[in-house]
Amino acid sequence: MITPPLWRDYRQNNRMEAYKCKNCGYVSYPEKRKVCPKCKKAPSEFETITLGPRGKILTYTIAYTLPAEFEPPIPLAIVEMDGGGRIYAMVSECKPDQIKIGMEVELDYREIFQEDGYHVQSFKVKPVKKGEEPK
Ligand SMILES: [Zn+2]
Repeated sequence: MITPPLWRDYRQNNRMEAYKCKNCGYVSYPEKRKVCPKCKKAPSEFETITLGPRGKILTYTIAYTLPAEFEPPIPLAIVEMDGGGRIYAMVSECKPDQIKIGMEVELDYREIFQEDGYHVQSFKVKPVKKGEEPK
């Protein structure tokens, strides 16, 4: 069984809100911290920013053993977003063997799965097509 994301996580899952340290520029996602892990200033002041819409794959794995709601294989990637911040996301709209480290991807908000009649919305990333402007 999968627990759908909570409403209080909506700003992080559907708008990619993150927090940027006003002292050093470190971007924290998804948690809002009291102390910046980079400059260690306490208490740190963070401004709210929006990640993306694009980034590059830092690393990835292909998951073959997953809950029944998912159809493996599913590529999962750590993405360094343009403007800072790292996210963990499923990669869609390409085959697992097409994924490369450094590949440019963009956020894609969509329904991830349905559970007990609920449509669970969140984000994935998909490859940027050549010549396509950011959305
Ligand atoms: Zn900082």
